[in-house]
Amino acid sequence: MKREPIKILMCASEMMPFAKTGGLADVIGSLPRALKKLGCEVRIFMPLYREVRSQWLEQYRNLEIIADKIFIPVGIHHFTVYLWKTVLDPGIEVYFLEKDEFFDRTYLYGNPDPQRGDYEDNAERFILFCRAVYALCIHTDWFPHIFHIHDWQASLVAPYLVHHWRSDPRFASISCILTIHNLAFQGIFPGTFFSLTHLPSHVFTMEGMEYWGQCNFLKAGIVYSDYVTTVSPKYAEQIQTAEHGYGLDGVLRSRGDRLIGILNGIDADLWNPATDPFLTTHYSIDSLEGKRNCKKDLLTTLGLPLDLMDSPLCATIGRLTRQKGYDLIYEIAPLLFKHNGALVILGKGERELMELFLHLKDEYPTRFAAVFDFDESLSHKIEAGADIFLMPSRFEPCGLNQMYSLRYGTIPVVHATGGLDDTVDDVLLYPDGGTGFKFYAYGVESFWEVLKEALKLYENKSLWRKIQINGMKKDYSWDRSAKAYLEVYEAVRRNR
Ligand code: ADP
Repeated sequence: MKREPIKILMCASEMMPFAKTGGLADVIGSLPRALKKLGCEVRIFMPLYREVRSQWLEQYRNLEIIADKIFIPVGIHHFTVYLWKTVLDPGIEVYFLEKDEFFDRTYLYGNPDPQRGDYEDNAERFILFCRAVYALCIHTDWFPHIFHIHDWQASLVAPYLVHHWRSDPRFASISCILTIHNLAFQGIFPGTFFSLTHLPSHVFTMEGMEYWGQCNFLKAGIVYSDYVTTVSPKYAEQIQTAEHGYGLDGVLRSRGDRLIGILNGIDADLWNPATDPFLTTHYSIDSLEGKRNCKKDLLTTLGLPLDLMDSPLCATIGRLTRQKGYDLIYEIAPLLFKHNGALVILGKGERELMELFLHLKDEYPTRFAAVFDFDESLSHKIEAGADIFLMPSRFEPCGLNQMYSLRYGTIPVVHATGGLDDTVDDVLLYPDGGTGFKFYAYGVESFWEVLKEALKLYENKSLWRKIQINGMKKDYSWDRSAKAYLEVYEAVRRNR
């Protein structure tokens, strides 16, 4: 007898092409398509942020309202919400929670500069979101086999399932899988906020979501989900240690038999130098000539002189935070410039780091360019136009840019941590099959030592080309990772 396809509801706070602050959005934008190819039925649920309404509704006008005036309790309030739906090619249904008071704002979670801070009502905003998941199922009369929840913002779906809804026959056979995209963000709020959730009081204990007297949303997800995944095998190991566990290593170890790392994939259609619409010239593994034109275009776009065409152009893209190692990049920059290198950065985030780089720009205007914005188009131009991609992250759950870099023939220099360690093969250890450079002890000295090796190798054009080709041959598309998720879905479904 043919089995019914697995039905999955992805609950996440961001998704491409609607709203993005980081890698989570890329994952939610691509994984459902890959799962659909494997025969799964996938729907997605996320908040209706200002940018979704303004961009999507105005451009495509295919957002339709499917339920209005639903009442959802949070603390002493009953909030009135609306549910919307759109259909993305190829038949992926995306559902949105409208509550303008909470989501019609400039940012998704708060100002990216930590000194300005997160929104004060984030607990209420995402309690509402998690509770609305159940309203969505009831209003659409669609009950999946799996709730696949992502990060702290969706974590409370798990305790609501265990403590409110599993006794309802419509939800009784649903399993919950949590994916942790970055353990550094846990959704920690004062203990007094627990009453906002209406969860039974025993949930606010050490065995539940209580964390040193506070509410820890991610911990609730870890404790009450059937399975926990994270975004690379190495990170799955690391988060079970005190060094990388952010205080939750013990809880994660206790779920060790239900915790696995599945490497994120990349969207190989969006990130393809042979077809990328953001590039002025296309190129591929068979002919890398166009990459030089992309470098010229990048230098021109950023106002850097074209006499850098034969200098090694290093770049990085990402949230402007110390997690990403921007402080290390700042420190090695003068050395890099002395060795004929140039540097381009694209990042939005901490004001202090931005100020450091503004000084650097004043000092080295012909070797350094910085854009402190979120710019999808420029990020593609940088991946194509740079020679070397720097990722000295202190920790990196998976990291996407090193995989984009490999595909674009831009050689990554990375700290051997998390997904960076899993996806880059060290040229210095494997001269024949290497794809990039890794440093192991975290610090400026070892980063610079390894970058120096990369700069040396840049002068050897044929060897450089070989490393580029090795990287471009790697397949980090979603197909493989989606199969691994499917195995987890099947395992939990069998056990329920
Ligand atoms: P994280 O999720 O920790 O921010 P990832 O490497 O997993 O890091 O994913 C970050 C994603 O966001 C990548 O696709 C990266 O290119 C993109 N990105 C980050 N900052 C910017 C920016 N300022 N402009 C354009 N894209 C950005």
